[in-house]
Amino acid sequence: MNAERLLKGIGVSPGVAYASAVVVRWDLPDVPDREVGADEVDSEVARLRAAVTETVAALAQLQERVRERAGVEESKIFEAQVMLAQDVDFLRSVEHLIRKNRLSAETAFEYKALEIRNLWANSSSTRLRDRLADLGAIQIRMLGILTGKPAVAVWSGPSDGAEQVIVVTHELSPGLTVQLDRDHVVGLVSEEGTRTSHAAILAHSLGIPAVMGAAGALAKIRPGAMVLLDGQAGTLHLDPDPSELEDARVRLSRRQKTELELEAAISQPAESPDGRRYALLGNVDLPEEIQPALRQGAGGVGLLRTEFLVTGRTQLPTEDEQYAYFRRVTEAFAGRPVVIRSFDLGGDKFPAAFQTPHEPNPFLGWRSIRVCLDEPEIFRPQLRAVLRIAADRDVQLMLPLVMEVDEVLEAKRMLDEEAARLAAAGVRAARTVPVGVMIETPAAVALADQLAQVCAFFSVGSNDLTQYTLAVDRGNARLAARFAPHHPAVVRELARVVEVGAAAGIPVSVCGEMASDPLTAVLLAGLGYTTLSVAPPSLPLIKWVLRSVPYAVAHEVATAARDATAPAAVLASLQRATEPFLGRR
Ligand code: PEP
Ligand code: MG
Repeated sequence: MNAERLLKGIGVSPGVAYASAVVVRWDLPDVPDREVGADEVDSEVARLRAAVTETVAALAQLQERVRERAGVEESKIFEAQVMLAQDVDFLRSVEHLIRKNRLSAETAFEYKALEIRNLWANSSSTRLRDRLADLGAIQIRMLGILTGKPAVAVWSGPSDGAEQVIVVTHELSPGLTVQLDRDHVVGLVSEEGTRTSHAAILAHSLGIPAVMGAAGALAKIRPGAMVLLDGQAGTLHLDPDPSELEDARVRLSRRQKTELELEAAISQPAESPDGRRYALLGNVDLPEEIQPALRQGAGGVGLLRTEFLVTGRTQLPTEDEQYAYFRRVTEAFAGRPVVIRSFDLGGDKFPAAFQTPHEPNPFLGWRSIRVCLDEPEIFRPQLRAVLRIAADRDVQLMLPLVMEVDEVLEAKRMLDEEAARLAAAGVRAARTVPVGVMIETPAAVALADQLAQVCAFFSVGSNDLTQYTLAVDRGNARLAARFAPHHPAVVRELARVVEVGAAAGIPVSVCGEMASDPLTAVLLAGLGYTTLSVAPPSLPLIKWVLRSVPYAVAHEVATAARDATAPAAVLASLQRATEPFLGRR
């Protein structure tokens, strides 16, 4: 295939669409640098506040629309936008600029919004980069109100009034996504964005196939071009020929058959054809993932990330707030285990008010368990909240980025102290909680035998373990092909961890992304892992895969992978071995 006609991005909402392209660009109002007189400063501040009120009202209307079209959980996406529009620190900084530099409300707003945009765009946190489209949507609204010239979306596309179109744009906001006419717009393409962008989540809920992160899409796709979009593979074929269309049709019908099998898998046991049993748990990063994880049949939560309680906020969450969240999750998963991971903060994952020094290498810096051990006022309230919930529910505490035994002992000492304090104060709480560690540094792999002596379980964080073993930044799109959790070096580490766990008699699981990918999940099963914690949308697929591939086959290919010399060879042999059971993937 001619490379000019094939574009690759990230498949964020599955399905295949074939239609002509409509290119949408925002015609944004010019914001001239405008200064105001000293006597006008107060009225500029008032204008800023009025614009925020109007923006919030418009967002509430959109939220209502999403609630009707996509559901209550999806409509909460707009709550995040409302919070952003009303962010006290941000608005205070704009007001300060108006007063100090005597700038008009729109000039000051634009200036501060650009500052935040640059910060987020260059951040190492995908969560912040994912929020750029939300920020953009608020900028468009606020500047439209403040300049009196609302931004307009300019649509250029087929002149024949095509029935169905694929929208191509630079950055897709949740607002634009929900306003699209579902019958008319059959596919979405954006140059920015990832699987976890709000617009991606919404497109998925609305059932519109979508590809994001398609760099160069606006330059390559001319308005009116025919586009074949595959929202699972993340590919865009421009002006496809009949044989490519036929290929897509076959792929689609095969997938539809798989979809039906996946539906059925949700209520079936996770057991291989030769009788090996697995436990499939869910990774929950945000409250809105609780229900999807339950619906997709998660047997518990293998990784409850807690960073969302901190990011984008001005204050650290209180003990009560954390306790309330843990109660919400554990009540939803009543009778099933929940593994709470202590704060994995670092880099820019701190509340705005928390002063952290700039670090040249945040991923090798002050993050994760290091922060918790150094800053008791962050860690201790979390420990207390965990102990309190453990009085009534089946929870465990998991420590991230551990590299030596002393870190575990220190954390356990603090846990004991907090338990004693709660008991002395007569607060209902457990005396202790099982403490496990994430294996996500090569150091933890090397010292796994020592760590096994002081902890209750291991859970492999394959995202970080791969990053630190291969020295490949997990968030760098340029290195995406080199980021290989199936690399023989990682495979050997994975094999060692499961062996050490078995010898010590402690449970071992994997909660990194490789457990959510069909081929690498087979590799893990073959290495001996029987508990996988998976992103909720992937639960049915992984269940279906584990039910389809005999353990003996997985074991054979995993054993060979330990001696492979290159990741490509591992992948090829996984593909070959699983094809008779899964079909061509
Ligand atoms: C991992 O590193 O694999 C992991 C599960 O943790 P996180 O992705 O939150 O760093
Ligand atoms: Mg990690």
